[in-house]
Amino acid sequence: MNFADNRAFAEARDQADTLASFRDQFNFPPQRNGYTPVYLCGNSLGLQPRLAVEYVQDELNNWATYAVDGHFHSERPWLSYHRQASKGFAELTGARPVEVVAMNTLTVNLHLLMASFYRPTAERYKIVVEEKAFPSDRYAAASQLRLAGFDPDTGVVEWPARDDGYLAIDDLRDILADQGDSIALLLLPGVQYYTGQVLDMAAICELGRAAGCAVGLDLAHAVGNVELKLHEWAPDFAAWCTYKYLNAGPGAIAGAFVHDAHFAADNLQQLHGWWGHEENTRFRMLPSFTPAEGAERWQMSNPPILSLAPVLASLQLFQQAGLDNLRAKSRDLTAYLAWLVDTRFGDRIGCLTPAEERGAQLSLVVRDSALSGRALFDALGELNVTGDWREPDVIRVAPAPLYNSYADAFDFAERLGSALQELTP
Ligand SMILES: *Cc1c(COP(=O)(O)O)cnc(C)c1O
Repeated sequence: MNFADNRAFAEARDQADTLASFRDQFNFPPQRNGYTPVYLCGNSLGLQPRLAVEYVQDELNNWATYAVDGHFHSERPWLSYHRQASKGFAELTGARPVEVVAMNTLTVNLHLLMASFYRPTAERYKIVVEEKAFPSDRYAAASQLRLAGFDPDTGVVEWPARDDGYLAIDDLRDILADQGDSIALLLLPGVQYYTGQVLDMAAICELGRAAGCAVGLDLAHAVGNVELKLHEWAPDFAAWCTYKYLNAGPGAIAGAFVHDAHFAADNLQQLHGWWGHEENTRFRMLPSFTPAEGAERWQMSNPPILSLAPVLASLQLFQQAGLDNLRAKSRDLTAYLAWLVDTRFGDRIGCLTPAEERGAQLSLVVRDSALSGRALFDALGELNVTGDWREPDVIRVAPAPLYNSYADAFDFAERLGSALQELTP
């Protein structure tokens, strides 16, 4: 690696970074204990874009000014407001705009899409999740099984992680070879939230298809982080939240994808609401449902504009920066952070995240038995370093290429050194 362990190197890298100016478009938390913030938690809650404040304020103003006419008036009429996210979502996920829609929140979308694509029969009813699945995904899968009259104890099939936490695609292949005939759905993430491993989503989709299973991807930690090609990979559906790498704010409106191969199907099952009705005749208030085109037919309610406004603001920043540029910076910045931690502290701090299969996140673990991971995490917090703690023993740090700098990576290493020294003098 042609990296150097000094601040001048980091600052020179920042000088040369064509994306560096985006940092100024975000609001950072204040100083703490005299330390500037080193915010490495964009995988959990992205920082606030200044533009998001403006967009939300716009809609508060439009509400005050136009009241009900805001559905039709203003720069971004509420009637079609959600559609303004489609182009940005499509670019970030490698989908066609008609295949994506901004609606609801992530777990809700998983359920609505499972209502359509988890169609169990007596013989084929199981759902594959990964062993250490994010709890919400597992609860969602188990409750879908229960709702359909099956026992989750036998119906949820785990793709086990290996001893180092690694999910090997060969193990999934074995599960499908073994019991594929009884599996209805693979519900799997793009990036494993605990280890930060990027899964081979193309292979997952291909294996699922070959075994006759539906495939749904949870892209919570993948969207805005790694390259996605949903249309090409062709999962049946996917869903993602927008408050992690997409910086749209706590509980902001999420995204969903349905592959266009499903749009012409006449046996499609789904839960209907009026916002999924074809737009031109929606307000005729007819008793029968005519679906909107594409993924929009999965909408149920009229969208919460105030929670969607920051999504539009955020997508605008991603479109300006360009995902390819962001990914190129992210690879280098994350490699720099990993290199610093390994070079300085490799004997005491390990990293669970596979170097060849990672996005922006590093999952650090304490390898020194004299040291408590939790105490280290808390000591970092006192030095105004924000990562997050995941039970039982991981400190996750994620330099987000839109607003994190090489100097952040260097300062992290400095403060990690201070925290270690403080705990083990
Ligand atoms: C963040 C995350 C969630 C959160 O779900 P919400 O419905 O947005 O609260 C779910 N699943 C995964 C894999 C996540 O990373």
